[in-house]
Amino acid sequence: MSNNKKPQYDSELVDKLASHISAIIELLGEDPHREGLLKTPQRAAKALIDNTSGYNTNASQLIKQALFSHHSDQMVIVKDIEFYSLCEHHILPFFGTISIGYIPDGEIVGLSKLARVVESQARRLQVQERLTADICDIVEENIKNKGVIVVCEAAHMCMKMRGIEKQETTTVTIQYCGQFKNVELQQQFFNLINLNKNK
Ligand SMILES: [Zn+2]
Repeated sequence: MSNNKKPQYDSELVDKLASHISAIIELLGEDPHREGLLKTPQRAAKALIDNTSGYNTNASQLIKQALFSHHSDQMVIVKDIEFYSLCEHHILPFFGTISIGYIPDGEIVGLSKLARVVESQARRLQVQERLTADICDIVEENIKNKGVIVVCEAAHMCMKMRGIEKQETTTVTIQYCGQFKNVELQQQFFNLINLNKNK
């Protein structure tokens, strides 16, 4: 991932967002002009832009750049891809890991691209269910395959901070298609990603 590149910001967008964030700080009863908060609206604006940068990406395009022919139909797994997203109901973070498995049908994708696909879908206002389903659909549609499976494990700050979710709870969502409808194949995938490693 190109995380070492310094991001370029649209200064007009940063200023617009910052003025709204400043207003929010004031509405919350704080003084946006006190020393500690002086640069907060600009910083928070840039953080929001970073955390929603997925809107400027094209996940299908990311995959198409790195397809290679391949003549095996054994399962390919990229597991524990770390992601950070924003819950669309509270605009609070939810984060965790995503594991993707697929059975190639003549082609494979460069492995780092799957992490980029995760990032492109996570960095926007999301719900975990859609994040999981969309990644599955994108892989399904853009790589010739006999089946795709995606498992997402996440912790939601909107649940934890409000005390609805206990500290150790994670939410697991799953989406699959093709040969992964077969329970034995699913089990093989779960064994390989070792879903219960933290328990
Ligand atoms: Zn929420």
